[in-house]
Amino acid sequence: MYAAVFLDRDGTIIKDKGYINSVSDVEFYDFTFSSLRTLASYFKLFIVTNQAGIAQGLISFEQLEAIHNFILDKLRNEGIKIEKIYTCPHSAEDKCGCRKPEIKSVIDATKEFNIDLQRSYVIGDHLSDALLGVNSGARGIYVLTGHGMKHRKHITAETERRIIITKSLKFAVEKIIKEIRKK
Ligand SMILES: [Mg+2]
Ligand SMILES: [Zn+2]
Repeated sequence: MYAAVFLDRDGTIIKDKGYINSVSDVEFYDFTFSSLRTLASYFKLFIVTNQAGIAQGLISFEQLEAIHNFILDKLRNEGIKIEKIYTCPHSAEDKCGCRKPEIKSVIDATKEFNIDLQRSYVIGDHLSDALLGVNSGARGIYVLTGHGMKHRKHITAETERRIIITKSLKFAVEKIIKEIRKK
């Protein structure tokens, strides 16, 4: 079985600019490529993204696909393989199973790619990302880029004990590498 890292997109690997619908709005953080290259030598990588802008008609599936192809190409050129991008196109009211922190996407990946969730991580700038980790039996890491800093005050002490909080993807990766070297 493989260990995996499930990465949030906006505010985690690219800057959060709201519901973007053009590749010209895609801007990677300066630490994204080196961080993901390090992770990729230990883990299978996935992107899991909530895109309620589709349900709201703010962005089309075609626009989203163009953005995701652009991201995958760029990462591939940087030597980083993303196995699959899981997108939830629904809004919260749809009560679907694929909107983070619901775990359908992670469970699907587990089956398709033979993933061991106990050795896996979810990284993102919303509590729903960290809770996707907790809910699926992986570890959840909350980063303070994107919306992370703004929403941190809403995390209760009880929840904070169940997740890991780091400044950015870069620090999350350092933390993960430290953890796996201890084992
Ligand atoms: Mg995000
Ligand atoms: Zn969904």
